[in-house]
Amino acid sequence: MMPWSSVAGSLQWRPSLSEGLKPAAWFDCCRQYRAVEVAACLERGLTALGLSDSIKTGDRVLLKPNLVTARAPEKAVTTHPEVVKGVAMVLRDCGARLFLGDSPGFGSLERCLEKSGIGAVLGEMGITPVSFDREEVVHEPDHLVAKRLPLAAAAFAYDKVVNLPKLKTHGMMEITLAVKNLFGFVTGLHKAGWHLRAGHDRRLFARIMLDIHHQVNPAWNLIDGIVGMEGEGPTSGRPRECGLLALGADALQLDYLVEKWVGFSSPSPLSREALDLDLLPTEIPPAGGPAATKPLRPRLQPAPGSGSPALPGHRLWRKLFVRRPKIIHSRCHRCGVCVEHCPAGAMSLAKEKISIRYRDCISCYCCQELCPYGAVKTGYVLGG
Ligand code: SF4
Ligand code: SF4
Repeated sequence: MMPWSSVAGSLQWRPSLSEGLKPAAWFDCCRQYRAVEVAACLERGLTALGLSDSIKTGDRVLLKPNLVTARAPEKAVTTHPEVVKGVAMVLRDCGARLFLGDSPGFGSLERCLEKSGIGAVLGEMGITPVSFDREEVVHEPDHLVAKRLPLAAAAFAYDKVVNLPKLKTHGMMEITLAVKNLFGFVTGLHKAGWHLRAGHDRRLFARIMLDIHHQVNPAWNLIDGIVGMEGEGPTSGRPRECGLLALGADALQLDYLVEKWVGFSSPSPLSREALDLDLLPTEIPPAGGPAATKPLRPRLQPAPGSGSPALPGHRLWRKLFVRRPKIIHSRCHRCGVCVEHCPAGAMSLAKEKISIRYRDCISCYCCQELCPYGAVKTGYVLGG
């Protein structure tokens, strides 16, 4: 494993680390969605990382899967129900009381639970669903960006948060893993508000994610990469078998190592920002576990141009090199979801067709992420 490092402001390769260091993460091989296998991998990882006692008898633990929208498990959009079940098996054995919640980007929590198959697991495993409707405002002058940060009150109402992200490519941030999954603690219209504040600036958006991570600070994170997503993620890409379950207590280090594992040639905008802010140590220990040194690892392909650099003010560059959303009218049901959720108000339904004012578009790809019919693609738009 050869992680990246930031040296004198530029990213360089550096050699692998000395032996004998405790691994920063545990990468296990898991080929099938079977809860007992997930539980076995998780127990191995918790032991290897010294996290076996992180959850104690009587702890109230909030599980935070990826429930961005209502999709069936085989679409690889949401955390798989067998992963949730496997985690619940282990935590129940620890004597924890389990709760689960999220704030979907589109659709109700009930609908997302039902469609994703996680709803059935809740009943079977005695997990209580939690609405993220109630909000708590955090005032933190030391935050990077979000000095006033409204979050779901659930983020602070439990003894521990266990983060269960899905491994997927992401149009705006290249990839969504543990840190990005915590954006689900931002409720309702505040999601659009942060997108609008960041505009085209990926670095600023990354800093907002880092502020959220600082507040939620999960006990540990288990990334569901058994089947991930590549291409036009996080909701319209192709499912891709990766056979990976990745565990780590430090979400930043875990994400960084997973990006490397899936073949990214440089850190994502989020990891790059964490490096530049010295939130990642100069020497990140490598991951341990049977998948860590697997010779044939999948190389995830994000959509071309994903995570384009932040260039506020460079309109010509953006016109030429930043991907724009495009409506596939033959697939469009004119449901209006994209118009309702576009943070920049750049979309409208006119003459029975959705149209986009590209001069207002901030390339957040929320329209692509939330379209229930896969009718929004991204690409380069001449004259946009
Ligand atoms: S593009 Fe998608 S979200 Fe927008 S109106 Fe058409 S079907 Fe609905
Ligand atoms: S048109 Fe789509 S990509 Fe552009 S700002 Fe609106 S939601 Fe974001």
